[in-house]
Amino acid sequence: MSNTLPVGALLERAYAQTPNLPIERCYIGRDAAAQLGGFSAKRCGNSCLVISDAHTHAVGKSALDALRANGKEISEHIFDESHLDATAELGDRVAEIGINADFFVAIGSGTLCDLAKHAGTKLKRPALSFATAASMNGYTSGITAVKLRGLKRTVPCTPTLAVFADPEIVAAAPPRMAAAGVADYLSKCSAGADWRVANILRGEYYDENALRFYEGALDRVLETTSRVGTGDPEAVAIALEALLLSGLSMLVAGSSAPASGGEHLISHYIDMKQALYGTPNDLHGVQVGVATVHCLQLWEKVLALSPDSIHPDLLADAQPTNEQIEQWAIEDWGADVAAEVITQWKQKARPRDVLRAEIAAFRDQLPQIREAVSKDLLPSTTVANAIRESGGPTAPEGMNAPIEEYRNALTRARYIRNRFTVLDLAAELGVQ
Ligand SMILES: [Zn+2]
Repeated sequence: MSNTLPVGALLERAYAQTPNLPIERCYIGRDAAAQLGGFSAKRCGNSCLVISDAHTHAVGKSALDALRANGKEISEHIFDESHLDATAELGDRVAEIGINADFFVAIGSGTLCDLAKHAGTKLKRPALSFATAASMNGYTSGITAVKLRGLKRTVPCTPTLAVFADPEIVAAAPPRMAAAGVADYLSKCSAGADWRVANILRGEYYDENALRFYEGALDRVLETTSRVGTGDPEAVAIALEALLLSGLSMLVAGSSAPASGGEHLISHYIDMKQALYGTPNDLHGVQVGVATVHCLQLWEKVLALSPDSIHPDLLADAQPTNEQIEQWAIEDWGADVAAEVITQWKQKARPRDVLRAEIAAFRDQLPQIREAVSKDLLPSTTVANAIRESGGPTAPEGMNAPIEEYRNALTRARYIRNRFTVLDLAAELGVQ
């Protein structure tokens, strides 16, 4: 039934229900370029810096034409790097190139959008996005993913002022990109459960309003994944709409927590290792998808525990010491980055007696926790099938990443960020 809604209807509903979203317009349609031009005429100044890469420049020509048709003075920067990386330095460079521009336009996907957001934030000027792939949820987020002091971090930024996407262009992107997007979207199943339990067990901030952005979208994505796999424009547009809503949920929550949990830490760990080796990353969503299947399996094991089998004293005693963790961090990252990792970890580490109480609270509230996270979780097999149908890998062998680092990430990624996730919960409960 949800499939009968036109693409864009869920975004319209989200906008109707949520006044004053900082992203003024999210538009998916064949006339996206004209809509971008019209929007820029009303809301932006005269001159713009358009950033793209060789591929997105070619497919996004309609956006440039529309800006010109609306009298904009365009300067362009076309990146030729095949593996562009969103770093703060590169974002600063975009700001320098666009120092005289009234606004920025990114024709591209995650990295280019992040660079435009970074530059726009730095210069306090608007950034618009002309999306060319349904590959991740960052088009509408208020964060950029950058490497900072060796850590993969999400840094707050001003979100784009508007996002436009033409389904035909988005569906023509390399198929692995849309599969990555489906996986990035579905990661919210595990991430949402992580977020909820961080609230239940640790009293961390939680905002039920963020969930509103998922109503109806999840079913539509699950119904259309096999068509995503064949590059069907409507199915890819449905995935993109879900991703735009996912980004909005993070904006409303003021945190990436609704869509970024343990599975994102695993992906970030691999990215950090690739940065150390100087080797290129796989797509964010591809890594996140493989890790999501793992995290959902962890959730299944954690929730299947019998309270009688949970012994808080024994489990608390079995946790690695801070000295051990510091040693691992130095092995993994070298002394400088390890210091950053340890800072993150110490914000989340708990003394033994508190940990013991946390494990006991989990044991005592297990029925309520099962009930609560059932609103977020999907079976790991359902998510794996959806990713597979959309054309993405669900096992680590399918990623372009060193498999031994993926395996290390399963136990060590939890140390790189202060966010409490199923990776912590499972480790505390002795579940692997
Ligand atoms: Zn993501």
